[in-house]
Amino acid sequence: MFSADLGIHVKLSDVRKSNILLVFIGFCIGVIGLMTARFIAYKSDNVHYHANFALYVDGTIDKFNGPGYYEEVQACTSENADNPRIRTHLHDENPSLVHVHAHTVTWGQFFTNLGYSVGDSVIQTGNGVFADDHNDNKLTFWLNGKKVDSIAGRVIKSEDVLLINYGKDDDITLQKRYDAVPRDAREANTKYDPAGCSGDENLTFWNRLKRSSWFE
Ligand SMILES: [Zn+2]
Ligand SMILES: [Zn+2]
Repeated sequence: MFSADLGIHVKLSDVRKSNILLVFIGFCIGVIGLMTARFIAYKSDNVHYHANFALYVDGTIDKFNGPGYYEEVQACTSENADNPRIRTHLHDENPSLVHVHAHTVTWGQFFTNLGYSVGDSVIQTGNGVFADDHNDNKLTFWLNGKKVDSIAGRVIKSEDVLLINYGKDDDITLQKRYDAVPRDAREANTKYDPAGCSGDENLTFWNRLKRSSWFE
């Protein structure tokens, strides 16, 4: 009798132990699964892509000379994503490569960050205000090969090519200027550039793991 009782007792505690083990394993799988999901999803929060543009006023291209037009690369971390200046800007003295670090950033916001202001028929640059007038001076926008009436409210798309022209220029001249806009956005999108801006630059595997876990 005694030995049979003991036998049942041992069996029960074994069952209890294996149940606890199963619950523990289940918990671990759950935690690892959630962390993996967060790890994978984390990357999609980091926006970083590029577009190209050029601005001509009265036949002269705006070279955006001066450090005030270029954002420090160090500023481009996801912690600063709420700062409007960080959402889109220029880097590395490259006056034709637009860096975008957030969703739904418009061309208008980009120019505002440069200290410029762009409307449909008037543009304010570092050199003054230029508006459509009776002498046939006209503000013109060519976006991805097509003439458009307005760009301020348009969201900057990856690898957009934009020409803004103010003056009395004919379509042949505009076409030439549009064709001359550098096309380095694609390269910047695909290549890791340690000297350039990369929103994910400091987001190493371990940083990402840390941020996607609950340890930070
Ligand atoms: Zn940047
Ligand atoms: Zn960039």
